[in-house]
Amino acid sequence: MSSSHSSSSSIAPAAGVVSFEEARHLVEQHAATVCPGEVETVDLLTGLGRVLAEGILADRDFPPFDRAARDGYAARAVDLAEVPARLEVVGEIKAGDWPEPTVCSVGRGQAVGIMTGAPLPAGADAVVMVEHTSLTELSHPNAAQNAALGWGTLVSGQDTFIGKFVEVRRGVRTGENFVPRGAEARSGQLLLDRGRRLDHAGIAIAASAGRSRVQVFRKPRVAVVSTGDEVVEIDATPGPAQIRNSNSYSLATQIQDAGGEAVRLAIAPDERVQLRTLIEEGLRCDLLLLTGGVSMGKYDLVEQVLGELKAEFYFAGAEIQPGRPVVFGSCLNISVGPESGSAAGTRTGVSAPHRRYFFGLPGNPVSTMVTFELFARPMIEALAGMGPQRLIFLRARLKSEIRTKTGLKRFLPAVLSGEFENAEVEAERWQGSGDIAALGRANCYVVVPPDRERIEAGEWVSLLMR
Ligand code: AMP
Ligand code: MG
Repeated sequence: MSSSHSSSSSIAPAAGVVSFEEARHLVEQHAATVCPGEVETVDLLTGLGRVLAEGILADRDFPPFDRAARDGYAARAVDLAEVPARLEVVGEIKAGDWPEPTVCSVGRGQAVGIMTGAPLPAGADAVVMVEHTSLTELSHPNAAQNAALGWGTLVSGQDTFIGKFVEVRRGVRTGENFVPRGAEARSGQLLLDRGRRLDHAGIAIAASAGRSRVQVFRKPRVAVVSTGDEVVEIDATPGPAQIRNSNSYSLATQIQDAGGEAVRLAIAPDERVQLRTLIEEGLRCDLLLLTGGVSMGKYDLVEQVLGELKAEFYFAGAEIQPGRPVVFGSCLNISVGPESGSAAGTRTGVSAPHRRYFFGLPGNPVSTMVTFELFARPMIEALAGMGPQRLIFLRARLKSEIRTKTGLKRFLPAVLSGEFENAEVEAERWQGSGDIAALGRANCYVVVPPDRERIEAGEWVSLLMR
């Protein structure tokens, strides 16, 4: 299941500190080698946020008939080559009506009232919008014929017929204001690809194809191990030098948001044996995220312990701030027990080599969150069954100048404001990557390229939304 094919050795390991782009590409390359978990069938709405394990096909033509796209009159474009023109109205079709050609069709000089969503009658090749017409009632000689069509009213006692005529002020082109049968999709055509994460549009498409149940991949289980002697659980009363474990919580929500299931393990102290036990436990999940303990401090043991477990490192730092010490790697041949990511009962113990990826995220809360978004998210999405995910920054105008140092790509907490086409962004004042309060005021990150010392107000800058 969610382990990789053992093909990642073909991707050149970098192992040192790499540029942001190189780090991201390394993750994307490895993410492209992993396999999603088992397939399960869920109710359509339960599938929200899940990744399709099957393609969704059109079960009929979309639209299933030539569908009027406007309220108005179905007509023949040739009859409206010169306007104004007067057409005889010989019927009306509401959405849901089926115009049997023998009963309702459009001949020369004729029109049929039609509503949006209704099938175009035989003979018509366009719809004139009702806004460009006026309906008039005139006496009409073809009483019997029209009465047979169920259209118009026979005036009692007289052999005259009050017929309807429409004055059309604007011409139409053939094909205008209706969608031909099958133009959106042909029966059997792929509407949603396997690997697509279901959002409201995907749910609507599956619904329109009659899929009340869909096949999705099991969510990858992502272990979270926070490290640090100073870190305590959030319901404990912290001692004077202790801080609460917020990272396991930010990560749990980010994992869920990325389509995974968070498995929060105990806090690991800065001590080799206990840290190793927790890392081994975490490596039984589909992915392991560690926070803290990856910097240069004497008690930053994460890389050492992973080294003892024969980890392969793909990078041991990225030229970014916050988050420079971020580590990405994998371990092979971790025995997979029953509590691994497999669905209960489908797998007990595994002998084939399994690659388990891990990220060592720096412990500062803003660094943890940013490095998750930049690097851990695409791996979780891949384990969840999604196709390759490229990172795209949005753009906005900078409100106030930014001064910084060169050398690192910066992701500075910022506030995106403005309205409609006028997006403005302003970096938040902050005390560095431990400043969780600044992040609470921010709604995005401004991305500052490593070669820029100063960005002027009014310049267009890149943003990472959060
Ligand atoms: P480290 O990466 O271990 O050097 O930690 C960097 C900073 O992040 C230190 O100030 C830690 O106290 C803080 N930190 C580490 N782990 C957590 C956590 N789980 N929740 C909140 N802050 C943390
Ligand atoms: Mg630490």
